[in-house]
Amino acid sequence: MYPRLLVHLGRIEENARRIVELARRFNVDLVGITKVVLGDPRIAKAMVKAGIRTLGDSRLLNIRRMRDNGVNARFQLIRLPMISELELVVELVDCVLVSELRTIEALNEVLKSKGRKMDIIYMVDIGELREGAWYKEAVEEIVKVIKYENVRLIGIGTNLGCLNGVLATPQNLSILLEIRDKLAGLGVDIPLISAGNTSTLFLMENNTLPEGINQFRVGEAIVLGTDVTRDRKIEMLRQDTMELQAEILELKSKPSRPLGELNKDAFGRKTVVKDRGIRKRAILALGEQDIMYTGLYPLMSGIEVIRASSDHLVVDVTDSEKNWKVGDIISFRVSYGALLRSMTSPYVEKVYIDD
Ligand SMILES: *Cc1c(COP(=O)(O)O)cnc(C)c1O
Repeated sequence: MYPRLLVHLGRIEENARRIVELARRFNVDLVGITKVVLGDPRIAKAMVKAGIRTLGDSRLLNIRRMRDNGVNARFQLIRLPMISELELVVELVDCVLVSELRTIEALNEVLKSKGRKMDIIYMVDIGELREGAWYKEAVEEIVKVIKYENVRLIGIGTNLGCLNGVLATPQNLSILLEIRDKLAGLGVDIPLISAGNTSTLFLMENNTLPEGINQFRVGEAIVLGTDVTRDRKIEMLRQDTMELQAEILELKSKPSRPLGELNKDAFGRKTVVKDRGIRKRAILALGEQDIMYTGLYPLMSGIEVIRASSDHLVVDVTDSEKNWKVGDIISFRVSYGALLRSMTSPYVEKVYIDD
C-alpha cells in the first residue's frame, strides 16, 4: 500500500544514543520528545532502549498510547495542561510544564482530592513569545507556587525556536540561571533547569552551554537528525531515519506555466510559476493531507517538487535520469512539518524497519 513511511527504528535509536552521550558529558538529562511521531510506541521504545528515561509529549492521548503499549518511561506533558484535562493529567503524567497559577491551583485541587503529589516545571519566556512567565516577572510569579502543597516545583524551563525561531544563546539561557539564583535567595530551591529543544543542542555541540542547565527536551534531532530552526543537518546524527514513498498516477509532458488567468489555489495560496517550457510532470498519490510539500526532499537527483493540492503532488522529473513509468514509486526524505503530517495522516501506512 502507498503512500507509506518507512521508519528505521535502529537509526533513530542510534541518534538518541548519541545525544544521550553528548548530554551526559554536560550533566544534562535528556527527555525524548515524541509529539512529532504522535507518541508512536515503537519509536518511543527505541528512545528508551538508547538510555532515555523520560519521554515528553504535548498530547495526553499520545502519552496514553505509549502507556497502553507498554512503553516503560516517566512521562512529561510538555504542552501547558488544559484545566478541562487535569483529571487525565494526574492519571497519566509524572511531570507537567505549567505557566498559569490558575491552572496550578486547579491541578492542586485535583491532586488533593486523590491524595497525590505531582512534579511541575514552571515555564519562563525569555523572548520566544510562546508559553511562560515573562522573564522580568518570573520570580514574583513563581514564588507564589510554593503555597500549593500537592504540587512539587522541581524546575523552571523555557522553550525556544518553535513559534518565532528565537535561537538559544549562552546569554539568553543564562537568564534562567539568574532566575534560579533569585528564587534560591527567597528560599525556593530549583533543582532542574530545562532549557529547550533541538535548536538548543547547538550549545552542547560547540561547548558553550552555561553550566547549570541540566535538562534538554529533544524531539526533531532524535527522529530526523536535523535542526529546522538553524536550518542544518546535525553532523553527529543520521538523517536517513525516515523515508516517504508515493506512487505515480500520471506522467505527462505539459507546459510549465498554467493556461488562463491565475488566482489562488485550494489553500488560498497564490500560484507563482516561471515559464520553463514543456516539462515532464508526474502526479503522485500524496497531498497536503499527508505531507507539507515544501518539506519533501526527493532521494533521487533530477526530481523537483512543484506543488500539491489535498490529494495530488506534482513533481517535475524532466531532469531525472530514470525512465519513470506510471505505477513507479518515488521516495523522499521529510522535514519536521512533513513528518508531522504524514504521521498524522491515516492514509500513510507506517512500515517499521529494525535497522
Ligand atoms: C516541541 C517541544 C520540544 C521539542 O522540540 P524539538 O524541536 O522537536 O526538539 C521541547 N519542548 C517543548 C515545550 C516543545 O513544545
